[in-house]
Amino acid sequence: MPLSSILDRFAEPETLKMAKLGRQLRSEGKDVVDLSLGEPDFDTPDHIKQAAIKAINDNYSHYTPVGGYLDLKEAVCHKLKRDNNLDYKPENIVTSTGAKQSIANLILAVVDKGDEVIIPTPYWVTYSELVKIAEGIVVPIETTIESNYKITPAQLEATITEKTRLFMFSSPCNPSGSVYSKEELEGLADVFVKYPNIYIMSDEIYEYINFVGGHESIAQFDEIKDRVIIVNGLSKGFAMTGWRLGYIAASAEIAKACEKLQGQFTSGPNSIAQKAGVVALTASLDPTFAMVKEFERRKNRVQELVCDIPSFKCYVPEGAFYIFPDISSLFGTSDGETKIENAEDLCMYLLHTANVSTVTGSAFGSPNCIRIGFANSMENIEKGFSRIKDALDKLK
Ligand code: PMP
Repeated sequence: MPLSSILDRFAEPETLKMAKLGRQLRSEGKDVVDLSLGEPDFDTPDHIKQAAIKAINDNYSHYTPVGGYLDLKEAVCHKLKRDNNLDYKPENIVTSTGAKQSIANLILAVVDKGDEVIIPTPYWVTYSELVKIAEGIVVPIETTIESNYKITPAQLEATITEKTRLFMFSSPCNPSGSVYSKEELEGLADVFVKYPNIYIMSDEIYEYINFVGGHESIAQFDEIKDRVIIVNGLSKGFAMTGWRLGYIAASAEIAKACEKLQGQFTSGPNSIAQKAGVVALTASLDPTFAMVKEFERRKNRVQELVCDIPSFKCYVPEGAFYIFPDISSLFGTSDGETKIENAEDLCMYLLHTANVSTVTGSAFGSPNCIRIGFANSMENIEKGFSRIKDALDKLK
């Protein structure tokens, strides 16, 4: 029986594919170190878990409003004021089953067939695939290690056409770890002021996992704030990936459009997660900052470890929990059995020879790189990097 043509338009997330392969090898008894995943290895803080237990006992077991409970929307507004000094009202907020759904809603709400969507590379795997589902056209802007994986206002302006509908980026960035400063964002905002028909999706899900100081949002620039859609969620900053809770802050018009789509796809997010989310967003951030301190300790160690691997061209991640080395100097090498032609080959080689899972950069629009996560214990990081080094030493 034929399946729909939508399925041919996009790929399965490479991140989840690698995690699946790693799990498979582990089930066969192999000691695989998983450096492919994009989630904190910490448990959800206790006060958030207690709020969920209370919500169950208080019988929050019914359908919720499509965009989320009012107290959750108010908690999001509180957080945006407290952390970002941004003013939003509940009518600007739509909560969803993870930031991934928030992004899917947004793309379906603004992108029509043939519309161009500008995405700087490297980008999070899902951006490009969702644009393809909407039959939009992905227009990448390539960045390099030399520019710290960031774009300039001139690059942005040169890429804009009459068909540009949306610009999507994350800061801190998954996978590069780059973080835009206020001045850099202001430079981009100055370009967007000249093009009033472009929406700007600012994915701030790694906001707290920032090693260079305060988080800056492009929504702070009043001239464009109405066209900025902030995407955020509780997965990374509160170690709540499995709870599935994300949100947008946007103009009331965009919020209404996203809510309309969500009303047919999933309705409101899980009621228990929402009640826990209210507590997460309004209580002290101390547990988050303790977790971030540990990520920074690991990032510092990873920086030392990559110095011992001459074939990795690296830079210093400023946020998130990944390092994204350029490994193209290994293309054309072989251990006598396996030839490395591209980043996928290298990831497979590392998985099967070193028992370490990583993710190919091609999934993120940067085929010369691989992504190595450090949301894993220091012990596993040491073990993983030592195995990577041994396996790479065999490539000639
Ligand atoms: N944006 C980025 C940049 C991410 O890395 C992720 C998760 N890997 C998400 C959005 C989606 O997060 P979630 O759906 O878990 O809220």
